Amino acid sequence: MPDMGLWPNANHLMHESCHCIADAIFEGLSGSKRIILRSFLCESLASTAESFAGIHAQNKIHRIFYNLNSYQAIAKNDPQAVTINRAIFAVGPANTFKTLFFSFVYANFLYKRVDENDFRNVIDLLQINAAKTLRPVFRIGVSNLNFRFRVETSGFYFRYFHGLHRSIFALTQFDFIRVLKKTPSVLRQLTDISDRLFA
Ligand SMILES: [Zn+2]
Repeated sequence: MPDMGLWPNANHLMHESCHCIADAIFEGLSGSKRIILRSFLCESLASTAESFAGIHAQNKIHRIFYNLNSYQAIAKNDPQAVTINRAIFAVGPANTFKTLFFSFVYANFLYKRVDENDFRNVIDLLQINAAKTLRPVFRIGVSNLNFRFRVETSGFYFRYFHGLHRSIFALTQFDFIRVLKKTPSVLRQLTDISDRLFA
């Protein structure tokens, strides 16, 4: 961080605003499993929006303010931005956005890594014609979100905000893809917001 003597306070308005939008979008989910899924969908939408904002931080000043006001960090020639840009060029921004979104969903569900099977599940769910440029996009979430941070913050959140006292590992042990398949309205809303954002 440059030595400026006076340094502005961080403001995570963009990430937190995304939570509000996501909370309204994913309102079709309810019940204990669905509380967890809804929370992670909201967190994943905010992380995805931040990642997309990061690819535009192409000069030093922009990166300084992005890094100050974002929960993610971006560096010059950041490999994550290169991966996202490459996928946008190959399969379009909406498909890239939705795949990246699911990469954060898996990370929030405490996956340490994702495999070809997980990738196929997501591509099938989103009905995207499989493109190899999306595979590295799908790995971004588990590679970038700190595992210990995910365990501690999610455990705290569900315990104190929703009264769910089981361990975070027990709470996240369910097939969320199956729950989503049973709730097509949520997928439609995700597709709708992606298409509107990049229309
Ligand atoms: Zn958040």
